[in-house]
Amino acid sequence: MLQLAILILAMTLIVGARYLAVSGLFAAITARARPGLHGSARSRRQQRAERRWSLIAAFIYGAPTASAIWRFHAGGTAIYTDLSAYPLWWLPASILLYLFLHDTWFYWTHRAMHHRRLFPVMHRVHHNSRPPTAWAAMSFHWTESLSGALLIPALVFLIPIHIAALGLVLAVMTLFGTTNHLGWEIFPARFVNGLFGRAVITASHHHRHHQNYACNFGLYFRFWDRLCKTDDGLAGDFGREEREAFDRAAARRAASGSGARPVHTPAAAPE
Ligand SMILES: [Zn+2]
Ligand SMILES: [Zn+2]
Repeated sequence: MLQLAILILAMTLIVGARYLAVSGLFAAITARARPGLHGSARSRRQQRAERRWSLIAAFIYGAPTASAIWRFHAGGTAIYTDLSAYPLWWLPASILLYLFLHDTWFYWTHRAMHHRRLFPVMHRVHHNSRPPTAWAAMSFHWTESLSGALLIPALVFLIPIHIAALGLVLAVMTLFGTTNHLGWEIFPARFVNGLFGRAVITASHHHRHHQNYACNFGLYFRFWDRLCKTDDGLAGDFGREEREAFDRAAARRAASGSGARPVHTPAAAPE
């Protein structure tokens, strides 16, 4: 029991450190690629709340993960380490199946959490991110974290998956959770408007959910949203208002002699 408690603590620290590293990296990329996009005092307050809720979520994600690892060491899960244990085609198939099942779980639980009775308790915390930032990747109320944290640790008891494939699924989960909340589109326009963006969810799709709560509920794929007619397409030039506000503030500072210059719309003149 003591060993399990130590494992839970270790997994909490690992999930928390992974969150801080990945979201911190993308927050730094955002600050470089879109200076001032999330620079207002209101956004900085929001980002502190996002980090607080995300670190609570790290504990809730860490505990079932630790229990699954505990059972894995005792040989009680469907995770395998010998590549020849299953045909090679199962490797990509299991990754796609895990992602599809996770997406399905997310879509339906997410839609349920938008019910007027569940929303204030479970999901309002996540929608307090307006607009979301890289730090919102795990910014969930603990009740929402519970629903999100249980699926993959449960699947590893049911559906065989190679340990490296499972690592890839978790990496995709982390990456999508972060990049979908950047508040700007990191993928090139030809990707987002092409075949990739028609099937796969990026920030342009999820940002629309944060703007207009009643659409775009998916996590990885647009499959369920399209099937259930909840797909409302992609957000346009989202983040434009924040960038323009930043430029106006920078222009005012430049006009008053503090030296800062607008970086997005250099033609904008101080009023
Ligand atoms: Zn979100
Ligand atoms: Zn939502």
